[in-house]
Amino acid sequence: MNKQDVLRYFSKKYGDRYIAYPFSVKSKEDNYFFMAKDNQNKYLVVIGAYGVCKGFEAINLKETKINENGLFLKICYLNHYNLESLRKIFPHLNPSFCGLRASFGTGDRLGIATPAHLQAFQGKDIFPILAQQSVREMARTERNWQKVLDDAIWGCFEEGYEGLFGADADHVKNIKELKEAADCGFTMFTIDPSDFISKDIEELNEQELNQLYNKIPKNKEIENLYLNKKFKVGEQELIFDEKSLRKIILTYSEALNHVVECYEFLKDYKKEKFDLEISVDETPTVTSPLAHLFIVLELQRWGVNFQNIALHFLGDWQKGIEYIGNLKQFAREFCLHAAIAKNIGGYKLSLHTGSDKFSVYPIFSQETDGLCHIKTAGTSWLEEVKVVAMKDPALYREIHRFALENFAKDRASYNLTIDLSRIPDIDTITDDELINLFKQNDSRQLIHITYGSILREKNDKGKYIFKDRIYKILFKYEEDHYRELSNHIRRHLGLLVSI
Ligand SMILES: [Zn+2]
Repeated sequence: MNKQDVLRYFSKKYGDRYIAYPFSVKSKEDNYFFMAKDNQNKYLVVIGAYGVCKGFEAINLKETKINENGLFLKICYLNHYNLESLRKIFPHLNPSFCGLRASFGTGDRLGIATPAHLQAFQGKDIFPILAQQSVREMARTERNWQKVLDDAIWGCFEEGYEGLFGADADHVKNIKELKEAADCGFTMFTIDPSDFISKDIEELNEQELNQLYNKIPKNKEIENLYLNKKFKVGEQELIFDEKSLRKIILTYSEALNHVVECYEFLKDYKKEKFDLEISVDETPTVTSPLAHLFIVLELQRWGVNFQNIALHFLGDWQKGIEYIGNLKQFAREFCLHAAIAKNIGGYKLSLHTGSDKFSVYPIFSQETDGLCHIKTAGTSWLEEVKVVAMKDPALYREIHRFALENFAKDRASYNLTIDLSRIPDIDTITDDELINLFKQNDSRQLIHITYGSILREKNDKGKYIFKDRIYKILFKYEEDHYRELSNHIRRHLGLLVSI
């Protein structure tokens, strides 16, 4: 049998009951594996020797013998056990190290977006980080590291993808979480030391600053390394004057200790090569070029082998909408950051909250010569809800009303300038007009930030009110889901130059 025979046999046997995904068919020594769906779920189909089929859990416990040559057929769940077996047979399904090349993260909150994401990456020389979720996102979506990674890998399998991809444990704050993500097979770790970054320095007077500064262990030693040192960066020269240096040491030294501790743990614990990102983007203050320089020089001094650094760049970075701020000013300052990264070398600049920041992408990728990383997540969720609005307007209206009710509670953890009064009244617009809500910043942000409440809401009987119906509609209209989503991500990728 070859792949075509296998597909022909399968469709003859099951007709419309199970439909195979033709691109997913993979073979290993006359054993065949592919994905199929019925009208409710997706399955792994294994056609092969009895011994191979034995390694998979089937929905029908008995294998069906399909010919006298000893071939059996099993229809199996998309569960973790089966994926483990599959990954042993096809090592390309394991995530891998990215290193210093252009990369792009596509967070997937529902866990069904990977095939669409992969379609967007087609023909692009950009390394995809297909599994990418933060601890905070997982709490809101009730997912965990394993589920996030497994869903992305099943997506790779469905799409027949054999290329490389990464898995990013995003915004991890402590060693316990790092360990859990490493145990599940993540290959990239984004350490967020924001809990250790001193935040209120601006409000302190000289005396208070000195008191605090004197408490920092080895402050003089660090000071001596940098005080009045000059660094040529592009056309400019950066100097660590006493005032700026003290402020930077005060702000970041404890956070850097935490990063070093996390790195030491990972280095010993994770056996394979891994990508490390340091993220100081979620801080109240913008990261100055001088602070950037200090952070990377200190990380290097401590021997931290990191690949990416996410800074808090100039401007207002809000979820799911364009960049807000003076783009020219951003470009000028970013130029310095990019020059620092090039001068020191060995790492990439990473942009978080990268969803829909189309105006920034050309600057970001050109200044870094394409050597950058970008993270998106919410924009995929928005495309998915847009498809719900297109295909089930009534459900969308319910979600929209619910989001409005929960907005006040959910906005707390976000930086937003949203104005609910600018959102058209849902009762006065037609079904066809619902899609326009996804072109309007306020309604985009409304749906963006309430995703956790929407996905977790249950009725008295403990059943999800929206989540199951969202999955159902996206399953039913899978083609539309994949098309809208991949077009949208492609629009992002198209603005990046790769090296
Ligand atoms: Zn971030």
